[in-house]
Amino acid sequence: MVTRKLYYEDQYMREFKARIIRSDDLGNKRWALVLDASAFYPGGGGQPYDTGVLEGENWVLSVDKVYMDNDLIVHEGVLEGSGKPVVGQMVYGRLDWDRRYRIMRMHTAAHIIGCVIKKMFNADFHGGAINIDVSYDDYTARIKRDDLPEIERRANEIVEAGLSHIVHWMPRDKAIEFLAKYNVALTQLHEGLETIRILEIKGLCAYPCGGTHVSNTKEVGRIKILKRESKGRGITRIRYTIEP
Ligand SMILES: [Zn+2]
Repeated sequence: MVTRKLYYEDQYMREFKARIIRSDDLGNKRWALVLDASAFYPGGGGQPYDTGVLEGENWVLSVDKVYMDNDLIVHEGVLEGSGKPVVGQMVYGRLDWDRRYRIMRMHTAAHIIGCVIKKMFNADFHGGAINIDVSYDDYTARIKRDDLPEIERRANEIVEAGLSHIVHWMPRDKAIEFLAKYNVALTQLHEGLETIRILEIKGLCAYPCGGTHVSNTKEVGRIKILKRESKGRGITRIRYTIEP
C-alpha cells in the first residue's frame, strides 16, 4: 500500500477526495487515518507537517499531526460527529491553507537566501527549520552582522524579479550532474534515493528538496533577515521572516 502524494502533483492543492485504507481508533476521541491519496505534507526536510480537516459521513477529523509510516501518510486528530471512519469510505480533505501557504512562502524564502549566500560566500546549506513566524537556516560560512543588509537586499531583488521556480525529478546520476552546474552536491540526506527532486530558480541556483514551494519568487513577499548566530566550526545560523 502507498499513499499517492498529491502535494507533489500540485503544490497548490488545498482540497481533495480520497479513500480510507486504514482506520485506527487511538482512544480519547483520537483517530489515525491512512488514505490512498493525500495533499497533507507529512513533514520533512525542515518543513513542518500540514494541519486541516478530513470529513466523512457524519464525522469530521481535525487533523493536528501528520507523518509518514513507510509509504503511507498517517493523519492523526480528534474525531467529532455521530459517524466513524471506515475503510473503503471516501473522505473530503481540506488543508489549513493560510498556514500551508505561509510555510510555502517561507520555504521559498529559504531557497532564495540560500542562493544569495551561495553567491556571496560559496557556502552550503547545513540544515534548518521552517516555521510560521521565524525560520532559520545554517550555512557553512562565517557570516558577519555587517553582511546581513546586503544578503537581505539581494534576496529581495530576487523576490522582486518574479522568477519561476521549476521542479525536476531526476535519476541520481543526472541529478548529480545537474546540481554540479550550480556547484551544489548531494549530502547524506539523499543517500539511497534513486530519484532526486530538485528545485531550481532558473539561472540562479538549484537545491535537492522534498518540500512545497510557491512557483514564483514574487509570491514570497518581502524577506527580512533578523539576525545571525555563530554555531561554531565555521557554521552561521541565519534567522529570517517574511512579511505577513
Ligand atoms: Zn525546498
